[in-house]
Amino acid sequence: MVWNENKFLKELDYLLHLAGADGAQADGKLLYNAVSKAVVADLYADWEENRRRKTRRCGYFSAEFLIGRTIFSNLLNLGILGEVRAALATRGIAIESFEEVEDAALGNGGLGRLAACYLESAATQNIPLDGYGLRYRYGLFKQKFVDGYQKEEADDWLKWGDPWSVRKESERVRVDFADYSVYGVPYDTPVIGYKNGTVNTLRLWQSEPIDAFDFSLFDEMKGEEIAIDNFNATKITAVLYPNDNTDEGKILRLRQQYFMVSASLQDIFKKQKEAGRCLTKLDGDFVFQLNDTHPVLAIPECIRLLEREGIAFDEALGICRKLFHFTNHTIMAEALERWNGEMVKRVLPQIWEIIEKLQKTAEKEGIGDGARAIVKDGVAYMANLAVFVCGKVNGVAEIHTEILKKSTFKDWYTAYPQKFVNVTNGITPRRWMLLNNPKMSAEITARIGEGWQTDLPQIEKLKTFVTDGEFRDAFRRIKTENKRRLSAYIRRHEGVDLPENFLFDVQVKRLHEYKRQLLNALSVLYIYNGIKKGEIKNFKPTAFIFGAKAAPGYYNAKAIIKFINEIAKRVNTDLSVADKLRVVFVQNYNVSYAEKIVCAADVSEQISMAGMEASGTGNMKFMLNGTVTLGTMDGANVEICEEAGVENNYIFGARVEDIETVKKTYSPKEILEKNTRLKACVESLADGTFEDGEGMLKAVYDSLLCGKEADKYLVLYDFESYMRAKFRVNEDYGTEEFVTKSLMNMTKAGKFSADRSVREYAEKIWEL
Ligand SMILES: *Cc1c(COP(=O)(O)O)cnc(C)c1O
Repeated sequence: MVWNENKFLKELDYLLHLAGADGAQADGKLLYNAVSKAVVADLYADWEENRRRKTRRCGYFSAEFLIGRTIFSNLLNLGILGEVRAALATRGIAIESFEEVEDAALGNGGLGRLAACYLESAATQNIPLDGYGLRYRYGLFKQKFVDGYQKEEADDWLKWGDPWSVRKESERVRVDFADYSVYGVPYDTPVIGYKNGTVNTLRLWQSEPIDAFDFSLFDEMKGEEIAIDNFNATKITAVLYPNDNTDEGKILRLRQQYFMVSASLQDIFKKQKEAGRCLTKLDGDFVFQLNDTHPVLAIPECIRLLEREGIAFDEALGICRKLFHFTNHTIMAEALERWNGEMVKRVLPQIWEIIEKLQKTAEKEGIGDGARAIVKDGVAYMANLAVFVCGKVNGVAEIHTEILKKSTFKDWYTAYPQKFVNVTNGITPRRWMLLNNPKMSAEITARIGEGWQTDLPQIEKLKTFVTDGEFRDAFRRIKTENKRRLSAYIRRHEGVDLPENFLFDVQVKRLHEYKRQLLNALSVLYIYNGIKKGEIKNFKPTAFIFGAKAAPGYYNAKAIIKFINEIAKRVNTDLSVADKLRVVFVQNYNVSYAEKIVCAADVSEQISMAGMEASGTGNMKFMLNGTVTLGTMDGANVEICEEAGVENNYIFGARVEDIETVKKTYSPKEILEKNTRLKACVESLADGTFEDGEGMLKAVYDSLLCGKEADKYLVLYDFESYMRAKFRVNEDYGTEEFVTKSLMNMTKAGKFSADRSVREYAEKIWEL
């Protein structure tokens, strides 16, 4: 895109004029919309050109895209962020005012953020990848704390408008359920490559009623029916399910999933036919990646649509085998989707028939049994359906893919070893370095030149500067500035003061027992007690920063939030430790908050029980921004250590190969008998130490000590080795050695660019 300030300002004035406002007096929303639209107008030619290209394209099907704020990243990628800032300044407008704009939080956490990173990286690598998903009216809930308890509020992300998207009324399609039909109306958002002119598309479907208002029906006294249909139709994309790594099996969720894949495939089929292309050769023009099981209904839907064109089941299945590929994101049983057959039959009878046919086909091939059953006792197992049909099945980090082969999909791996591949997750260095840490980025570019922004392994050239005093000073200075900026933000939003000379120890991610925020919380309490009693001396001042949303129905997760908030209140109001400790749980952790936090952290806590975190991507964001990891040998932490060296990180805890043996004889009570200080911390969950009107903390206590599954995630088992690692971090902080470790992580982050990930998908899976 060619930048022309006069043209931009003229367009902006015109758009503001249309909206009945001008220049500096326009309110934020008007300005945001005008600026965005002025840019979209200039983007159109590139976008249209991209659409018309006759290349084979990949459709990335995902129920979630955790996009965050678009305006800054779009301007950055167009190479006009500085120019627009300057142009607006001539009108007395500060571009920073757009930091008020809502995040598009159309996803829960890592999985949705990954999808957003992949779209950006593909556009930057000039790979023809388009996203297909749902345009939820309300995204992930907004989180507030009231008396330390999580409260959820609706996320009205459209309240600033959605000026980057284009509604394509003429491309709407009808989606039929057994009981009613709805329209799917696509909203297209440009996905802009970094300074390369490539514009791919994110197409999000919105559900709408077939008859907005049909007078003939009204005459026949069917007004009530219309109202119900309208309600049903708008309900489908009304809200994102706020569950991360759990499966609810609800009928509305089934409708969402089917609506998304049916609308996307019908749209693709229609265009294919209009272009005179043969549907039996669909794989010559398309390939589809299924992001987890949420879009797996695309397989039976594709078969249904092919059958409707007169293609026989066996041939249709053969086409699907070439078209679809599947990414698994978790090994947790409670997250592997299953659908109750009776329910599917009721709303999608044809789809259920096809699923049963797939089961019969698998049986004929001698693989539809036991752990591989697609349908068993009237329940459909979506991961099995995906593995049976898809050409490739990938895990998201080396250790995770190995677990899939050895355990989760063991029997499948025996039947189809060639299907299984690994593609380690990645993050886009544009959002997670250039945008969130511009000063550090400038220091890097000043030393190693341009190039690393789109070829991240080049960042290793910085290695020769790791010993350079000036560079180390710059790193320290910028980290401190970032901490000061975060601290000011947290003071304003959370009312807690974090001195910038404190060590910033950060754990931000969804709240889940397997991620073990409880382990971190117990350690904070342990340190607090230790300092008070004089048992812990010379502890360098530390701010423990938490951020996490809990699924609204996940009781224990909400209880852990309450526990941490209680600890924070106790510590922050105790003047005797004011020069040593601060604890804060930030409210409403989201992409924009992450951008501020990631570049200000000294330590990144990645402490899941080994084998549970498929990959993690938060760990990569911190690493790239020059942060050491305090973590277990889990997910991509393993590869982070391979790249940056274990000696430059702080690794602790049981290894994945030990877990099974440990669990056989494990007694959490025994651990507490041997560690009375830890015992006191655990007891505080049950002995009234903390205000807990709802009695939630006792549930956390019970989860650690009661029943067959007591301390399922080995919190107490790993505690001692965790504390040792945490004390080592504290000892090293502030030393030259610690700066070296931090910088070694930054210089070795090259592997974790999403550019590398999407290229691997393109080569190993999509054959683009
Ligand atoms: C990156 C990111 C995540 C994923 O974090 P993990 O530590 O990998 O679980 C979740 N939420 C947001 C807002 C993120 O930016």
